[in-house]
Amino acid sequence: LPGRKVLIVYAHQEPKSLNGSLKTVAVEELRKQGCSVTVSDLYAMQFEPRATRNDIVGCLHNSEEFNYGVETWEAYKRGDLSSDVIEEQKKVQEADLLIFQFPLYWFSMPAIMKGWMDRVLVQGFAHEYPNCYDSGLLKNKLSLFSFTTGSSREMYAKGGINDDIRYLLWPMQHGIMHFCGVKVLAPHICFAPEYVSEEERKEMLIAWARRLKTLWQEEPIDCSPEWYFK
Ligand code: FAD
Ligand code: ZN
Repeated sequence: LPGRKVLIVYAHQEPKSLNGSLKTVAVEELRKQGCSVTVSDLYAMQFEPRATRNDIVGCLHNSEEFNYGVETWEAYKRGDLSSDVIEEQKKVQEADLLIFQFPLYWFSMPAIMKGWMDRVLVQGFAHEYPNCYDSGLLKNKLSLFSFTTGSSREMYAKGGINDDIRYLLWPMQHGIMHFCGVKVLAPHICFAPEYVSEEERKEMLIAWARRLKTLWQEEPIDCSPEWYFK
Protein backbone atom coordinates (compact mmCIF):
# COMPACT_ATOMS: atom_id res chain seq x y z
CA LEU A 1 0.00 0.00 0.00
CA PRO A 2 1.48 3.39 -0.91
CA GLY A 3 2.96 5.12 2.11
CA ARG A 4 3.21 2.00 4.25
CA LYS A 5 6.57 1.37 5.86
CA VAL A 6 8.13 -2.05 5.98
CA LEU A 7 11.20 -3.22 7.84
CA ILE A 8 12.72 -6.49 6.63
CA VAL A 9 15.00 -8.08 9.21
CA TYR A 10 17.05 -10.48 7.14
CA ALA A 11 19.46 -13.15 8.35
CA HIS A 12 21.40 -15.04 5.71
CA GLN A 13 25.11 -15.01 5.00
CA GLU A 14 24.78 -15.52 1.24
CA PRO A 15 22.99 -13.07 -1.07
CA LYS A 16 22.64 -15.84 -3.69
CA SER A 17 20.72 -18.06 -1.25
CA LEU A 18 17.01 -18.64 -1.53
CA ASN A 19 16.57 -16.44 1.54
CA GLY A 20 18.50 -13.74 -0.29
CA SER A 21 16.20 -14.10 -3.28
CA LEU A 22 13.07 -14.07 -1.08
CA LYS A 23 14.31 -10.85 0.52
CA THR A 24 14.98 -9.25 -2.87
CA VAL A 25 11.55 -10.28 -4.17
CA ALA A 26 9.91 -8.66 -1.14
CA VAL A 27 11.89 -5.43 -1.50
CA GLU A 28 11.00 -5.19 -5.19
CA GLU A 29 7.33 -6.07 -4.84
CA LEU A 30 6.71 -3.79 -1.85
CA ARG A 31 8.54 -0.86 -3.46
CA LYS A 32 6.50 -1.40 -6.60
CA GLN A 33 3.40 -0.95 -4.43
CA GLY A 34 4.77 2.36 -3.19
CA CYS A 35 5.80 1.13 0.25
CA SER A 36 8.98 2.41 1.77
CA VAL A 37 11.17 -0.57 2.57
CA THR A 38 14.16 -0.75 4.92
CA VAL A 39 16.32 -3.86 5.22
CA SER A 40 18.40 -4.78 8.24
CA ASP A 41 20.84 -7.26 6.71
CA LEU A 42 22.13 -8.62 9.99
CA TYR A 43 25.21 -10.56 8.78
CA ALA A 44 26.27 -7.77 6.42
CA MET A 45 25.90 -5.30 9.32
CA GLN A 46 27.87 -7.69 11.52
CA PHE A 47 25.06 -7.16 13.97
CA GLU A 48 26.12 -7.83 17.57
CA PRO A 49 23.83 -10.58 18.90
CA ARG A 50 25.15 -10.67 22.46
CA ALA A 51 23.25 -8.96 25.26
CA THR A 52 26.06 -7.41 27.30
CA ARG A 53 27.11 -4.47 29.44
CA ASN A 54 28.29 -2.77 26.24
CA ASP A 55 24.65 -2.07 25.33
CA ILE A 56 24.52 0.58 28.03
CA VAL A 57 26.44 3.79 27.43
CA GLY A 58 27.86 5.45 30.53
CA CYS A 59 27.01 4.64 34.13
CA LEU A 60 24.98 1.69 35.32
CA HIS A 61 21.87 1.93 37.45
CA ASN A 62 23.36 -0.72 39.73
CA SER A 63 27.05 -1.31 39.21
CA GLU A 64 27.23 -3.81 42.08
CA GLU A 65 25.24 -6.53 40.35
CA PHE A 66 24.54 -6.41 36.63
CA ASN A 67 20.97 -7.08 35.48
CA TYR A 68 20.63 -6.78 31.67
CA GLY A 69 16.85 -6.31 31.64
CA VAL A 70 16.88 -3.61 34.30
CA GLU A 71 19.93 -1.81 32.92
CA THR A 72 18.63 -1.66 29.35
CA TRP A 73 15.23 -0.50 30.60
CA GLU A 74 16.88 2.33 32.54
CA ALA A 75 19.25 3.12 29.66
CA TYR A 76 16.33 3.26 27.24
CA LYS A 77 14.61 5.87 29.42
CA ARG A 78 17.82 7.92 29.62
CA GLY A 79 18.47 7.55 25.87
CA ASP A 80 21.68 5.72 26.78
CA LEU A 81 21.39 2.50 24.80
CA SER A 82 24.20 1.81 22.35
CA SER A 83 23.73 3.47 18.98
CA ASP A 84 23.23 0.24 16.99
CA VAL A 85 20.27 -0.69 19.22
CA ILE A 86 18.78 2.81 18.96
CA GLU A 87 19.08 2.63 15.15
CA GLU A 88 17.09 -0.58 15.05
CA GLN A 89 14.48 0.75 17.48
CA LYS A 90 13.94 3.76 15.19
CA LYS A 91 13.39 1.44 12.23
CA VAL A 92 10.89 -0.60 14.26
CA GLN A 93 9.11 2.50 15.49
CA GLU A 94 8.62 3.78 11.96
CA ALA A 95 7.51 0.48 10.47
CA ASP A 96 3.91 -0.63 9.92
CA LEU A 97 5.07 -4.15 9.09
CA LEU A 98 8.07 -6.19 10.26
CA ILE A 99 9.09 -9.07 8.00
CA PHE A 100 11.58 -11.57 9.42
CA GLN A 101 13.35 -13.51 6.64
CA PHE A 102 15.59 -16.40 7.70
CA PRO A 103 16.49 -20.07 7.38
CA LEU A 104 15.14 -22.19 10.23
CA TYR A 105 17.95 -23.07 12.67
CA TRP A 106 17.14 -25.68 15.32
CA PHE A 107 13.39 -25.10 15.15
CA SER A 108 14.00 -21.39 15.61
CA MET A 109 15.67 -18.33 14.15
CA PRO A 110 19.43 -17.99 13.63
CA ALA A 111 21.30 -16.70 16.70
CA ILE A 112 22.03 -13.37 15.04
CA MET A 113 18.29 -12.73 14.65
CA LYS A 114 17.53 -13.94 18.16
CA GLY A 115 20.16 -11.46 19.30
CA TRP A 116 18.30 -8.74 17.42
CA MET A 117 15.15 -9.65 19.38
CA ASP A 118 17.08 -9.76 22.67
CA ARG A 119 18.75 -6.39 22.20
CA VAL A 120 16.19 -4.32 20.29
CA LEU A 121 12.89 -5.22 21.97
CA VAL A 122 13.87 -3.61 25.24
CA GLN A 123 11.52 -3.10 28.16
CA GLY A 124 10.15 0.41 28.04
CA PHE A 125 10.39 0.40 24.24
CA ALA A 126 8.52 -2.75 23.22
CA HIS A 127 6.75 -3.74 26.41
CA GLU A 128 6.46 -2.54 29.96
CA TYR A 129 4.33 -4.53 32.35
CA PRO A 130 1.29 -4.50 32.32
CA ASN A 131 1.63 -3.36 28.71
CA CYS A 132 2.21 -6.69 27.08
CA TYR A 133 0.35 -8.93 24.61
CA ASP A 134 -2.68 -7.03 23.26
CA SER A 135 -1.54 -3.86 25.03
CA GLY A 136 2.16 -4.27 24.21
CA LEU A 137 3.88 -1.04 23.28
CA LEU A 138 4.27 -1.98 19.60
CA LYS A 139 0.56 -2.43 18.97
CA ASN A 140 -0.79 -1.32 15.59
CA LYS A 141 2.15 -2.96 13.88
CA LEU A 142 2.11 -6.19 11.90
CA SER A 143 4.72 -8.93 11.70
CA LEU A 144 5.34 -11.82 9.37
CA PHE A 145 7.79 -14.68 9.76
CA SER A 146 9.06 -15.77 6.35
CA PHE A 147 11.47 -18.68 6.50
CA THR A 148 12.93 -21.68 4.76
CA THR A 149 13.49 -25.17 6.13
CA GLY A 150 15.71 -28.17 5.51
CA SER A 151 12.90 -30.66 6.14
CA SER A 152 9.97 -31.18 3.82
CA ARG A 153 6.35 -30.22 4.37
CA GLU A 154 5.51 -33.88 5.13
CA MET A 155 8.13 -34.01 7.88
CA TYR A 156 6.47 -30.93 9.43
CA ALA A 157 2.93 -32.27 9.24
CA LYS A 158 1.03 -33.20 12.39
CA GLY A 159 2.25 -36.68 13.34
CA GLY A 160 5.26 -36.37 11.01
CA ILE A 161 8.81 -36.83 12.31
CA ASN A 162 9.19 -33.14 13.21
CA ASP A 163 5.50 -32.80 13.97
CA ASP A 164 3.41 -29.68 13.36
CA ILE A 165 5.43 -26.63 12.31
CA ARG A 166 2.99 -24.46 14.26
CA TYR A 167 4.44 -25.75 17.55
CA LEU A 168 7.72 -24.02 16.88
CA LEU A 169 6.04 -20.76 15.88
CA TRP A 170 4.69 -20.30 19.42
CA PRO A 171 7.90 -18.84 20.93
CA MET A 172 8.57 -16.56 17.96
CA GLN A 173 5.08 -15.35 17.10
CA HIS A 174 3.37 -15.45 20.47
CA GLY A 175 6.31 -15.24 22.88
CA ILE A 176 8.01 -12.35 21.11
CA MET A 177 5.75 -10.50 18.64
CA HIS A 178 2.40 -10.87 20.37
CA PHE A 179 4.07 -10.16 23.72
CA CYS A 180 5.18 -6.81 22.32
CA GLY A 181 1.69 -6.07 20.98
CA VAL A 182 2.59 -6.74 17.35
CA LYS A 183 -0.10 -8.51 15.34
CA VAL A 184 0.95 -11.63 13.49
CA LEU A 185 0.18 -12.45 9.88
CA ALA A 186 0.25 -16.08 8.74
CA PRO A 187 3.84 -17.28 8.35
CA HIS A 188 5.32 -17.81 4.91
CA ILE A 189 7.23 -21.06 4.73
CA CYS A 190 9.33 -22.40 1.87
CA PHE A 191 9.92 -26.04 2.62
CA ALA A 192 13.21 -27.72 1.71
CA PRO A 193 14.40 -25.40 -1.08
CA GLU A 194 17.68 -27.29 -1.33
CA TYR A 195 15.88 -30.51 -2.23
CA VAL A 196 13.42 -29.33 -4.85
CA SER A 197 13.96 -28.51 -8.51
CA GLU A 198 15.06 -25.16 -9.87
CA GLU A 199 11.56 -24.89 -11.32
CA GLU A 200 9.94 -25.34 -7.90
CA ARG A 201 12.28 -22.77 -6.36
CA LYS A 202 11.26 -20.26 -9.01
CA GLU A 203 7.64 -21.06 -8.16
CA MET A 204 8.36 -20.38 -4.46
CA LEU A 205 9.59 -16.88 -5.34
CA ILE A 206 6.59 -16.21 -7.55
CA ALA A 207 4.23 -17.40 -4.80
CA TRP A 208 5.85 -15.03 -2.29
CA ALA A 209 5.54 -12.06 -4.66
CA ARG A 210 1.92 -13.03 -5.32
CA ARG A 211 1.12 -13.16 -1.61
CA LEU A 212 2.71 -9.75 -1.04
CA LYS A 213 0.41 -8.21 -3.66
CA THR A 214 -2.62 -8.73 -1.39
CA LEU A 215 -0.83 -8.73 1.95
CA TRP A 216 -2.43 -5.51 3.19
CA GLN A 217 -5.87 -7.10 2.90
CA GLU A 218 -4.92 -10.01 5.18
CA GLU A 219 -6.30 -10.36 8.69
CA PRO A 220 -3.83 -11.26 11.44
CA ILE A 221 -4.02 -14.78 12.82
CA ASP A 222 -5.76 -15.41 16.12
CA CYS A 223 -2.51 -15.70 18.06
CA SER A 224 -3.84 -17.82 20.90
CA PRO A 225 -2.88 -21.34 22.04
CA GLU A 226 -5.62 -22.86 19.86
CA TRP A 227 -3.96 -21.64 16.66
CA TYR A 228 -0.76 -23.41 17.62
CA PHE A 229 -1.77 -26.49 19.56
CA LYS A 230 -5.36 -27.45 18.81
P1 FAD B 1 19.90 -22.31 -0.26
O1 FAD B 1 20.84 -23.41 -0.11
O2 FAD B 1 20.41 -20.98 -0.54
O3 FAD B 1 18.80 -22.57 -1.39
C1 FAD B 1 18.72 -23.69 -2.16
C2 FAD B 1 19.04 -23.31 -3.59
O4 FAD B 1 18.23 -22.21 -4.03
C3 FAD B 1 20.49 -22.86 -3.80
O5 FAD B 1 21.08 -23.74 -4.71
C4 FAD B 1 20.34 -21.47 -4.40
O6 FAD B 1 21.30 -21.22 -5.40
C5 FAD B 1 18.95 -21.55 -5.02
N1 FAD B 1 18.38 -20.25 -5.36
C6 FAD B 1 18.63 -19.03 -4.81
N2 FAD B 1 17.98 -18.08 -5.46
C7 FAD B 1 17.27 -18.68 -6.43
C8 FAD B 1 16.40 -18.20 -7.45
N3 FAD B 1 16.14 -16.89 -7.58
N4 FAD B 1 15.83 -19.10 -8.30
C9 FAD B 1 16.10 -20.41 -8.17
N5 FAD B 1 16.94 -20.91 -7.24
C10 FAD B 1 17.51 -20.06 -6.38
N6 FAD B 1 16.12 -27.23 8.91
C11 FAD B 1 14.99 -27.62 9.53
O7 FAD B 1 14.02 -27.98 8.86
N7 FAD B 1 14.89 -27.62 10.88
C12 FAD B 1 15.90 -27.21 11.68
O8 FAD B 1 15.76 -27.21 12.90
C13 FAD B 1 17.12 -26.80 11.06
N8 FAD B 1 18.17 -26.40 11.81
C14 FAD B 1 19.32 -25.97 11.18
C15 FAD B 1 20.38 -25.52 11.97
C16 FAD B 1 21.53 -25.08 11.38
C17 FAD B 1 22.66 -24.58 12.24
C18 FAD B 1 21.65 -25.08 9.96
C19 FAD B 1 22.92 -24.60 9.30
C20 FAD B 1 20.61 -25.52 9.18
C21 FAD B 1 19.42 -25.96 9.77
N9 FAD B 1 18.34 -26.41 9.01
C22 FAD B 1 17.19 -26.82 9.63
C23 FAD B 1 18.37 -26.34 7.54
C24 FAD B 1 18.11 -24.94 7.02
O9 FAD B 1 16.89 -24.45 7.51
C25 FAD B 1 18.08 -24.93 5.48
O10 FAD B 1 19.36 -25.30 5.03
C26 FAD B 1 17.74 -23.56 4.93
O11 FAD B 1 16.46 -23.18 5.36
C27 FAD B 1 17.77 -23.51 3.40
O12 FAD B 1 17.60 -22.17 2.99
P2 FAD B 1 18.76 -21.38 2.23
O13 FAD B 1 18.27 -20.03 1.83
O14 FAD B 1 20.02 -21.42 3.01
O15 FAD B 1 18.90 -22.33 0.97
ZN1 ZN C 1 -0.30 -14.87 20.71
